[in-house]
Amino acid sequence: MMSKTKRRQPKFAIASIILTVAAFVIFVAASFIDPISEYSSYLMIVGLALLIASWGIYFFAGKPQKEAAEAPETVMTVIGCKGCDIREERAFATGDYIFKDLGPCKKCSGSSFIKAIYAVTPPKKE
Ligand SMILES: [Zn+2]
Repeated sequence: MMSKTKRRQPKFAIASIILTVAAFVIFVAASFIDPISEYSSYLMIVGLALLIASWGIYFFAGKPQKEAAEAPETVMTVIGCKGCDIREERAFATGDYIFKDLGPCKKCSGSSFIKAIYAVTPPKKE
């Protein structure tokens, strides 16, 4: 399967394919079937309309669902100390970066710093 289409809703993809096929059938009929060839310019317009409709379905109706629907990640900051083995965690705050100096440690008054930053993805709710 093509990875680009896997998030699209299948019913829209099928509608898009059917319209595209119908458009090509009309183009072929208009070009090769003599009795209707005098209407070929009209059939071309109809075929083009079908193609545009199929592209419209493909690009607008079949758009993948927004990622925002999923639960957001929680980012955690781990605080450590150069003087002792204290380890604290708190929610990530703007401006946090690894090895950022956070001033004196609560426990030993050594210098505490950001040891790590990590993200937690909550389990999906089905
Ligand atoms: Zn300490």
